[in-house]
Amino acid sequence: SALTLTGCGREETAPAAEGGDAAAAGFETGSAIGVALPQKTSENWVLAEKLFNDGLTEADYKPNVQFANGGVSEQQNQISSMITNGVKVLIVGAIDGAQLGTQLAQAKEAGITVIAYDRLLLNTEDVDYYVAYDNFKVGELQGQALLDGMKAKKPEGPYNIELFAGSPDDANAKVFFDGAMSILQPEIDKGNLVVVSGQTSFEQAVTQGWKAENAQKRADSLLSGSYGSTELDGVLSPNDTLARAVLTSVEGAGKPLPIVTGQDSEVESVKSIMEGKQYSTINKDTRALVEHAIEMVGNLQAGEEPEVNDPDSYDNGVKTVPAYLLEPQIVTKDNAAEAYANDPTLSALTK
Ligand code: BGC
Repeated sequence: SALTLTGCGREETAPAAEGGDAAAAGFETGSAIGVALPQKTSENWVLAEKLFNDGLTEADYKPNVQFANGGVSEQQNQISSMITNGVKVLIVGAIDGAQLGTQLAQAKEAGITVIAYDRLLLNTEDVDYYVAYDNFKVGELQGQALLDGMKAKKPEGPYNIELFAGSPDDANAKVFFDGAMSILQPEIDKGNLVVVSGQTSFEQAVTQGWKAENAQKRADSLLSGSYGSTELDGVLSPNDTLARAVLTSVEGAGKPLPIVTGQDSEVESVKSIMEGKQYSTINKDTRALVEHAIEMVGNLQAGEEPEVNDPDSYDNGVKTVPAYLLEPQIVTKDNAAEAYANDPTLSALTK
């Protein structure tokens, strides 16, 4: 942590003691646990709602799980009432990770432990843990899949591509993009990849609200503006919802389908992959993520420190948030059956 750099003994121990305090207290079984989820921008969030309700109930807690489809202020209000209602732990999947500072300070004051779920909470001291799939790794896998997919189809470059990113208020979106660009930028520099529109920055690539309609609109205008007689070989898409929007746009323009990446293993995208349309997705089993978050709640309840496996990577602007990261997996038609073997819904689609 930044504090240990000062070399002052008292400060050195401060962060550990803080975490320890939250954990040492413990709390009763049957306590209320708050889970603030964002908008239903992808299937994984909808799954998470049910998994948190079932899992927390089974572990003997009272779940209070809320979506904030109305946006940031609705999520702020929901978190405030969770605090008022006496939750012992707040699990937060933020719409905008930088807009919850006031509510999280209230939570801290009330002795509540705050776990950032899937998306990091930014610019606040008042977040204790982060549990997520490794977001940078997700981006790297997407970038590599885009290259592999295009190469398999057409062994020699240069390849014409376009870049899409997620919603700029979601802390993950930039990390996904940076991960992908760590693979793609060297190829752009070599001239092996050409972003024909010239729109290579994160700001140019973003998709407000992770909304399919916004990605489709941008894809429409890229196609009509830059691909009149030029072939589009590949599209970096940060998730499945946006991948399908891009494919819809290309189909509407009557063009051959490019290699398109994705993320989340959504049912419609797994079908599309098996039909040879979408090229890849990412397997981030929501069951494992929710399970780990609930395990953290169990540790806190027992007065133990939850396990983390990445204590010093996630700087949220004002503190380093101890993280537990799970490993994402790339999925194409080739390994889908194997990747989804233990998921009854998805494995049925690969038969
Ligand atoms: C999640 C992705 C998801 C996106 C849109 C991100 O924060 O990590 O899995 O596709 O939100 O819902």
